[in-house]
Amino acid sequence: MELDTIAAISTPPGEGAIAIIRISGEASLPIADRMYRGKQKLRDVDSHTIHYGHLVQPATNDTVEEVMVTVLRAPKTFTREDIIEINVHGGVVSADRVLQLVLTEGARLAEPGEFTKRAFLNGRIDLSQAEGVMDMIRAKTDRAMNVAMKQVEGRLARQIRSLRTRLLEAIAHVEVNIDYPEYDAESVTLERLETQITEVQAEIDQLLATAHQGKILREGLATAIIGRPNVGKSSLMNALVQDNRAIVTEIPGTTRDVLEEYVNLKGVPLRLIDTAGIRETEDVVEKIGVERSRQALSEAELVVLVLNANEALTVEDEALFAAIADFNAIVVLNKTDLKKEIDESQVHALIGDRPLVTTSLLKEEGIEDLEAAIAHLFFDEGVEGAEMNYVSNTRHIVLLNQAKATINEALEAAQADMPVDMVQIDVTRAWEHLGEIVGETAPDQLIDQLFSQFCLGK
Ligand code: GDP
Ligand code: ZN
Repeated sequence: MELDTIAAISTPPGEGAIAIIRISGEASLPIADRMYRGKQKLRDVDSHTIHYGHLVQPATNDTVEEVMVTVLRAPKTFTREDIIEINVHGGVVSADRVLQLVLTEGARLAEPGEFTKRAFLNGRIDLSQAEGVMDMIRAKTDRAMNVAMKQVEGRLARQIRSLRTRLLEAIAHVEVNIDYPEYDAESVTLERLETQITEVQAEIDQLLATAHQGKILREGLATAIIGRPNVGKSSLMNALVQDNRAIVTEIPGTTRDVLEEYVNLKGVPLRLIDTAGIRETEDVVEKIGVERSRQALSEAELVVLVLNANEALTVEDEALFAAIADFNAIVVLNKTDLKKEIDESQVHALIGDRPLVTTSLLKEEGIEDLEAAIAHLFFDEGVEGAEMNYVSNTRHIVLLNQAKATINEALEAAQADMPVDMVQIDVTRAWEHLGEIVGETAPDQLIDQLFSQFCLGK
């Protein structure tokens, strides 16, 4: 397949010290040479070198920009194609002008993620690695970044490929026995197959066991702070946000329909739900407090229920306890600097074995305890586990579950003494599900859709 030559501005929009225009494809060098004036023609320089010079309008020879040009020849490049990177003075106009020139000279404007897509199409990375690149761009904490980086390095891909190879080997044995039935007893074949695919299934289970933490690291833990008006919800949110530097959530080219705030809690990204609601003027919240809390609950993975220690429990508090019956929840008893009016034995009866943290947000006391309690609830054994492969991507999780289910079907068929080739069909399907994770059996449409989520110029 012949791919055309693409170009884009690869640095973020806006002003900066420099901006980079990236070109990839067969025509990269010829295009650059038509515009570049320097000591040598770029086609004559060594690969992976950088060169000072000027860009001109080829038609008039008018100077357009002072530039540094990096020449990266295939195949040792990000896309495995010839790549030219033009460093220009930062500024919207200059980068745009150079890009226009490159496009006039014959490159096509790259679609979002198209450079990474090329790396995939040209076999440099697989799909799970490409997805890791995207996760790295979007990572909100160091830990999330580490998980994504391992995925980019191809660790998950290697494990998936090894699982696939083992399934294939299991099928291959069966193949031999279908062709030469007298060569081996069918029951022995089936036993060996069962052992092999059971081992693969166990490893899939191990991967799936990391999915919960992995997904939290990747997407943030959806957290709802709820409680009656005036108990201290806004104060709590502000304390969390101030303590933990809200993380940049700006993803170029995406729109957010809900107002969200991220907090980096000991490496765990908390995604605070409905911060707009919490921030609204109190008289509005007053009217819709409990109702709004219920709404925030609909997407919450963690609930922080705030109570006021300075007042007796109310029926509204009890209603909120009832509403969070099925949730992971932490109860915060706030305003402990004031006279205690709440009946603690009543509180204890309601919270059962959920963690209770006492705070005085006014005096900035107890916030550390709360943070520790949240981290403990979700990352009991710690997220460090440097040697572990995390599955963090919903697409991967779905496919792993499908692979696991089809291996189950194969095992059931084998145990029910079904014909060997029936068992083989199920194992082959499991092999295909795993292949979709690394992109070997993924449909084109899916691939297009995945890469379209990238930023422009990546
Ligand atoms: P929300 O309606 O639940 O969001 O509550 P706010 O966070 O807006 O707090 C309501 C009032 O309680 C504000 O005047 C806060 O300053 C005050 N407040 C919050 N936390 C404490 C605390 O720990 N002790 C005391 N004494 N006042 C607090
Ligand atoms: Zn408030």
